[in-house]
Amino acid sequence: LASRDFHPEDTVISIKGVDIGGKELVVMGGPCAVESAAQIDEIAGLVKAAGGQVLRGGAFKPRTGPYSFQGTGVEGLIMMAEAGKKHDLLTITEVMTPEYVDICAEYADILQVGTRNMQNFDLLRKLGECGKPVLLKRGFSATYDELLNAAEYILAGGNPNVMLCERGIRTFESYTRNTLDLSAIPVLQSLSHLPVISDPSHGTGRRELVEPMTKASVAAGANGLIIEMHTDPDNSMTGDGVQSLFPDQFANLLQDLEKLAPIV
Ligand code: PEP
Ligand code: MN
Repeated sequence: LASRDFHPEDTVISIKGVDIGGKELVVMGGPCAVESAAQIDEIAGLVKAAGGQVLRGGAFKPRTGPYSFQGTGVEGLIMMAEAGKKHDLLTITEVMTPEYVDICAEYADILQVGTRNMQNFDLLRKLGECGKPVLLKRGFSATYDELLNAAEYILAGGNPNVMLCERGIRTFESYTRNTLDLSAIPVLQSLSHLPVISDPSHGTGRRELVEPMTKASVAAGANGLIIEMHTDPDNSMTGDGVQSLFPDQFANLLQDLEKLAPIV
């Protein structure tokens, strides 16, 4: 079902007037984690003012260590839903377990599957029945074929609204946190009709690389971007402050993108 052979035309996912996978570029921006109501409200206002269409923020965080901040949970979902509604933005949040799919689907417009869960097949099956669009991140050691097979689980479960996301893979290079695989964008678009979103934040792990790799992703044909932005990245509650743009950098980047591709 994910294959272009089966479905030659591009899939366009329409959510409340925003088309993902069409001619326009879709920008999802926001913090790694929802930290407080005031934080997500302020950042939502900045995403909207910059021209973004979707507010990102994790309420349930997949942390490498069990003692790190694990997210604000259901309270965070509620805070983000309120900020999205107030600032007229769609929302996207990560869901980590099948048990939480229903509650995440109740509060968010798009559900994100993180890189560590790309082959959590029980989660993928449950997302096939959730009734909401899904952004499926590529596992950091997954091939294109494995990513497409993971998407297939969601599609086969009855959910046609899947976006693929390149977020960087693990290579021998240690200067960057991951290596953003730009080739994934045109390859996935040739193999599949599903929209392809690039995540230059996790794909590089370094703030100064987000701008050039965002532009490179657009040049490579990405249908959208998911970018971390924080008002106080040095004090962010996850380690992802080092890759988060400051609000003015985010706004300037989106202005530059208008020259490369129309934003909805
Ligand atoms: C995130 O989007 O904050 C995240 C945890 O992403 P990934 O699963 O790509 O590491
Ligand atoms: Mn993050």
